Amino acid sequence: MDDAPDQDEHGSEIAKSLGTRVLRCRRPVRIVQDDRVDSETLIRDGLELLFVIAVGGMLFSAIRRLRRGEIQVYRCPECERPTTRANGICKHCSAPLPDAPA
Ligand SMILES: [Zn+2]
Repeated sequence: MDDAPDQDEHGSEIAKSLGTRVLRCRRPVRIVQDDRVDSETLIRDGLELLFVIAVGGMLFSAIRRLRRGEIQVYRCPECERPTTRANGICKHCSAPLPDAPA
């Protein structure tokens, strides 16, 4: 496989216009595919499995609690719309919430 001179000159012109040099790689690059499973891959796969179990468990638990009705939405006593107690007032009607944290 020989270098095409016109391509090299074209590359050199581009490199010159960019103010850089063209680096030529004479040695052919071999891509070796390795099917061995090393210890790093095993550790990575094990950690990935643990993450999947942890996230899946949290999701499963949340869905189960939602389906059982164990998660209740806080509603404003004035307007009956879902809101947060964190701010102390309803975000819809600005009524003060009696069970807001201090
Ligand atoms: Zn309200």
